[in-house]
Amino acid sequence: MKTHRNIPVFIPQEGCPNACVFCSQKKITGVDRRAELDTFRATVEKALESRWQESEIAFFGGSFTAIDRQRMISLLDAAYQYVKSGAVSGIRISTRPDFIDDEILSVLKSKGVTVIELGIQSVSEKVLASSGRGHTALHSENACKLIKKYGFRLGGQMMVGLPLSTPADEVATAQAICDWGADETRIYPTVVFEDTPLYRMALNGEYSPLTLEDAVTRCADCMEIFLSRGVKVLRVGLHASESLASAPFGATHPAMGELTESEIYRRKICALIGEARGKKLSVYVNSSACSKAAGQHRRNTEFFKNKYGFSSVSVYGTDLPEYTAKIHIED
Ligand code: SF4
Repeated sequence: MKTHRNIPVFIPQEGCPNACVFCSQKKITGVDRRAELDTFRATVEKALESRWQESEIAFFGGSFTAIDRQRMISLLDAAYQYVKSGAVSGIRISTRPDFIDDEILSVLKSKGVTVIELGIQSVSEKVLASSGRGHTALHSENACKLIKKYGFRLGGQMMVGLPLSTPADEVATAQAICDWGADETRIYPTVVFEDTPLYRMALNGEYSPLTLEDAVTRCADCMEIFLSRGVKVLRVGLHASESLASAPFGATHPAMGELTESEIYRRKICALIGEARGKKLSVYVNSSACSKAAGQHRRNTEFFKNKYGFSSVSVYGTDLPEYTAKIHIED
């Protein structure tokens, strides 16, 4: 039996008052509550047909605690039935930092919510303002601390490559997310979707979209911080989808996570090689990480050959912990 999975339930924003420049969610109105609950139950029942050791219901789609209160409570009540029956182990929600307070957290606690993911995105005020986020870094800090005080597991989501964001801003954001007590994180390099303000900004030269190389480097810089601070990285990059594939600019690659992890292995292996030289390089990593260490289309192994002059590079699976490596160099 497989171990852990989220049962994702997408909750569209009903009249979201914000205007994030990157947002591609359609602003909908007049949600049919009964139909939404029926769809929710059907989604969960279908997911529960396949057996996993542990399942969590995950309300994704933006700002769960900012939707109409009665709608939020109806969805949580429906989800809590599955927690109480033991069919799922908990409920995960994602929301904005400025829609967290004592009253909201008390409601979430009483309805079986276990994990709160916060869209922090950046701790730079200039980046938050130019991205139209409508909240400050202080909102994020206060929300994180309150969530931890109430005993929830905390996820801190961040973005890379937002307008005016520098690599230093992103490193500072990753560090703040760790400092504020996050247990887990997601890193999203910015994607420019059509029909967004960011698309218009990119077209008129006000915004320079991330190149793939930049996105990987900057995501890896942040991921290294999370790994060193023991914060679990749940995801890097958006899920592969039709809209991602058709997005005109930015980090549209469907395997950003794999590319970022490969970059991290490349950095680790380069550090181990240091000044050593020889003909044959053997690399040892966790068995699940051989393809990441070798890189997509063996990009890393080619890099080691070109940079250090190895004639052969082999990667072997072992029981070493993830994100660690050992090497052996022979003449
Ligand atoms: S908070 Fe921002 S990203 Fe979320 S739905 Fe509203 S405008 Fe879109």
